[in-house]
Order: sequence, then C-alpha cells, then structure tokens
Amino acid sequence: MAKKVVSDLNLKDKKVLIRVDFNVPMKDGVITDDTRIRAALPTIKYVLEQGGKAIVFSHLGRIKKAEDLAKGDMAPVAKHFAELLGHKVTFINATRGKELEDAISKMHDGEVVMFQNTRYEDLEGKKESSNDPELGAYWASLGDVFVNDAFGTAHRAHASNVGIASHIKESAAGFLLEKEIKYIGGAVDNPKHPYVAILGGAKVSDKIGVISELIKKADKILIGGGMMFTFLKALGNNIGKSLCEDDKIDLAKELLKEADGKIILPVDTVCAKEFADVKGEVKDVNALASDDMGLDIGPKTLELFTNELKGAATVVWNGPMGVFEMKNFEAGTLGVCEAIAHLENASTIVGGGDSVAAVEKLGYADKFSHVSTGGGASLEYLEGKVLPGIACLSEK
Ligand code: ADP
Ligand code: MG
Repeated sequence: MAKKVVSDLNLKDKKVLIRVDFNVPMKDGVITDDTRIRAALPTIKYVLEQGGKAIVFSHLGRIKKAEDLAKGDMAPVAKHFAELLGHKVTFINATRGKELEDAISKMHDGEVVMFQNTRYEDLEGKKESSNDPELGAYWASLGDVFVNDAFGTAHRAHASNVGIASHIKESAAGFLLEKEIKYIGGAVDNPKHPYVAILGGAKVSDKIGVISELIKKADKILIGGGMMFTFLKALGNNIGKSLCEDDKIDLAKELLKEADGKIILPVDTVCAKEFADVKGEVKDVNALASDDMGLDIGPKTLELFTNELKGAATVVWNGPMGVFEMKNFEAGTLGVCEAIAHLENASTIVGGGDSVAAVEKLGYADKFSHVSTGGGASLEYLEGKVLPGIACLSEK
C-alpha cells in the first residue's frame, strides 16, 4: 500500500496544511540546532513553487501548565524559519480563532502562514495529544489538503496529524516523511539480504520490541553499548559495575535462544573504574573485575563487527556502541561508522536521538543512506508497528 506524496497532489491555489516537526532544542529562547527546520524546507518550497498557500504548524515541547507556554512559544522558531526559507512568514499567535481564520482567508498563492504551537491546545485537557475530534475537524476546515512531514510524532495519533487527515478529503506525506517510509518501511517490509542490525545504547527495556522483530527479519544482530552487558550477564559473565538491567536478564536469555546464533555479542570491552572520561583498559568480556565498568566495545569486537558487516545489503543501526560523548570511549561508535561508510551498494539507516547525534558529531551523517529524524517513531516503525501518522494518509 503506497501512500500519496506531496508531489501527487494538485496544489495550485490550494490552502495546504503542512504539519512539520519544528520541535527544535532551544536555550533561553535561542534555537541551538535548526536541523529539523532545514529538513522541512524542501516540502514547503515545493508547495510554494506549485502555487499553493502554505499553512505551517508544529508542536514545540510539552505544554502541561501555564508556565510551559513561554518555553513553547513558536514565535522565535517562525522567525528563524522565515530566515532559512528566505521568504515572509506571517506568524499567528493562536491555534484557532478569528485572527488565524482571517489571515488564512487573505492568503495569496505562494504565501506562508504559521500558527502557534499545536500543543497550546493541551493546556486545558490535552486536545492536541488526545486527538480531540473537534480540534482535528477544526484544523482540517482551515485548508483544502493536508501534508504530513512530521515523522517524529508519526507514532502518535494527535489532532494535528491523524485528526486533520481523518477530516479532510486528501492527505499526503511530505518529502521527509516519504524518505522515512522508503528506507525504514523498506527495511521492515522488504529488506535486501544480508541484513545486519546493530543495537546499542543505554536501555534494553526500550529496545526489546525491536530485538524480537529483528530476530525474525535480520541475518545478524550485533549488540554493543550499555545493552551488551545484560546479555553478557545472562550468559554468566561477571560484568562488574557495567550498566545492566537485572530484571531483563531472563528476557535476554530468551532472546538469545530465539535468535539461535544471530545475536553477536562483544568479546572485549574498554573499561574504567568510574563513569568518567579517563583512559580505559581493554579487557576480554570474561575477565572483568568487580569494580570494572565497560564503557565501549573493544578493538577485537570492532574487528568482529566490521567483518560481520562486510557484504551487507541492509544495515539498520540504533544505539551507540559506547559512551561516545567521552573521547576515551568513542572508538567503538567511530569504528562502526567507518565500517558502514565503506559498504558499497548497501542501504544504511541510522535512527535514535543519541545515535544520530553520535554520527553527526563524528562526521559520518552523509555516509548513511538515511538518517532518521525520529527517535521513538523510528524504533516503533522498526518494530513493525503501524504508525498512525502514516496510516492516516491517502492511498495513491
Ligand atoms: P538512542 O538515543 O540512539 O536510542 P540510547 O538513548 O538508547 O540511544 O542510548 C544512548 C546512550 O547510551 C548514550 O548517551 C551513551 O553514552 C550511552 N552508552 C553507550 N554505551 C554505554 C555503556 N557501555 N555504558 C553506559 N552508557 C552507555
Ligand atoms: Mg536516547
């Protein structure tokens, strides 16, 4: 089932509602990373070029109480968005009402209106986040067609995605969402083999769903990061002070059994005596002392993982191999980036907030076929779950 894409729509003279993900990190009212805004520009520019009227909106943080309103104010984001777009953006400091409706009715082709944080509607009773049908219908009534380009919230049914789509005649994916569907959807529905998955990061419990799904689909699952120690302990190793989720050890045993050799665990780790950026000591995973803390995969493991990756046609990566934020424990993550960068003709996908931060920090983002923009959404998509923000869009 293929979903419509913005390029399938007739946009001329249309009021185009565009849900973007401008949930950017901010400090003291200043945007500290505008990647998400830049990423949405192709869809918005396309709508304008086609003679559409772009009505743009997003959430920004969570709004639970009145004090959250200032932090979630979209005005500075709209200002920066206008600069990046090189085009006037009329910002309306409201999520509904006469001022917004008048501004929209006065729009000409090629103009942009942006309205306030969709989650301002959560202040009195979670209207946006609980997909209040009245709100979805109201927002839908403001436009002619709907374009969803917000992958980061596609795993949630909110009024600003599912609500609008279910009250409007035609809806489609933006170019950013299209790319997520192509790459992550492709890995889920129809992966090319050999398919190698790499998992790491901090928590097993967050990623269980993905592991059991990957056992069904992938040929190999390489596990590093903090996650490795729950598995290593399940196999009877002494893991010292390393990160471990003790209540997940039985589950790790089950997964290892289910995986029937597909799960590849590290053979060595870089240890420290404390969680600090100090020079580590490489130890085999069966040789840790009780005060050792494994903070990265070791060089033998990197070689093992690099060999497993050779010839892969699909690679999906979620979770750093070590504490990449510290110089002394970045080598594993860097090495895996390097191994992936050398693959030829492979579809390579990285997802997860910290994983994406890691590949960007280490300078490898452009070496991947796809850097996913959604943390939770990319995990749920990889788990094989239906994402409501995609499912709600019109079929081709
Ligand atoms: P993502 O955001 O990509 O899904 P996670 O949030 O699961 O990834 O995990 C990322 C964090 O895991 C990073 O901050 C990293 O420092 C940490 N981490 C990786 N390896 C270890 C380790 N061996 N011990 C403790 N923390 C680790
Ligand atoms: Mg994270």
